[in-house]
Amino acid sequence: MKIIDDIKLDFNDVLIRPRRSNLSSRSEVDTIREFSFPHASRKLSCSPIMAANMDTTGSFEMAKCLSKFQAITCLHKHYTANQLINFFENNQNILHLVFCSIGTSQKDIDKIKYVYNQLKENNKNIPNICIDIANGYSENFVNKAYTIRKMYPEIIIIAGNVVTPEMTEELILRGGVDIVKIGIGSGSVCTTRLKTGIGYPQLSAIMECGDAAHGLGGHICSDGGCVIPADICKAFGGNADFVMLGGMLAGTDCCDGEWEYEWRCKTLGEDETRNKEWWQPFDPQYPTEKRKVYLKFYGMSSKEAMSKHDGGVANYRTSEGRCVRIPYKGTTQNIMQDILGGIRSACTYIGAKSIKDFSKKTIFIRVNNTHNRIYEKYDK
Ligand code: 5GP
Repeated sequence: MKIIDDIKLDFNDVLIRPRRSNLSSRSEVDTIREFSFPHASRKLSCSPIMAANMDTTGSFEMAKCLSKFQAITCLHKHYTANQLINFFENNQNILHLVFCSIGTSQKDIDKIKYVYNQLKENNKNIPNICIDIANGYSENFVNKAYTIRKMYPEIIIIAGNVVTPEMTEELILRGGVDIVKIGIGSGSVCTTRLKTGIGYPQLSAIMECGDAAHGLGGHICSDGGCVIPADICKAFGGNADFVMLGGMLAGTDCCDGEWEYEWRCKTLGEDETRNKEWWQPFDPQYPTEKRKVYLKFYGMSSKEAMSKHDGGVANYRTSEGRCVRIPYKGTTQNIMQDILGGIRSACTYIGAKSIKDFSKKTIFIRVNNTHNRIYEKYDK
């Protein structure tokens, strides 16, 4: 047994220090970044924000919406082969911004082979790949990643999750991975730290793994733990090339999954009609509309996810995810604007002309308190 005494940081342990800047407006900031990769022959020009490949946030609708911001979507792995073929055949324009997710099972690899063969036969381009397993520390994972790299030399491969530099290097060097996904236990609906005691504070994980990846020409994606736009800025400041979001996009209109709806009257005012709209949804005098109210959001290793996709929790496993009911948050578009607006503003505070410059200009200050919470509970 050994103890590491150095302080390891999370997003809420720091603030970013402002510094002299010659940017006069947020509109001067470029949120698009150009990437080239250690293995993929493809290049990528994008806003480096990714929707997580959870079965709520990694939806086709999300991909269409995020592509308007040139942001990325990692689709969840539960779409059927035919659904994927159909989507990619009809959305070739956004293909470079969409990653197909797979695990390491033979079934997943066979599915991707089938989808990609069909697309190639129809003279269509193939999308990039996200190889996702909860614990990226296995030899088998590295080998499987390398098998996929050999099959598709041109595509961008993102794989994870890990939290340490040596495994980041291993995945890039021996797994043929371009972007390593960093984060264990930090997710909003993740209970790994509660069940296993395993984890690593997210900001320190990305600082340490980012250094390792960049030394090899690779990149990292900070996955999990962003709760507010400031956390995304801190992730970029701390060396992340990409930031993946689950909980922050969950509950926005482009999510798939089990929504709870309410019927409300279109013609009457909101407050006085709250009762009527419940008991008279089909009365022609009161035309009604269906509105999203809550979304069931759960971890991909939760009991709910395993029951839905794998027919239950295997007897040698435990659930490592939470299931929550979250209120509808409005449009994905609004949330994305808020996030990109936050990044632009942060850039102007530190004199960074682009997201690429952000980490070079970042000086973190360790703090005990990140912001004033007095009126938080009155927030509308
Ligand atoms: P969030 O942005 O919600 O904080 O984190 C999203 C990330 O949490 C996902 O991209 C994924 O890496 C992780 N995650 C999703 N579901 C689960 C789960 O059931 N268990 C664990 N341990 N992590 C999860």
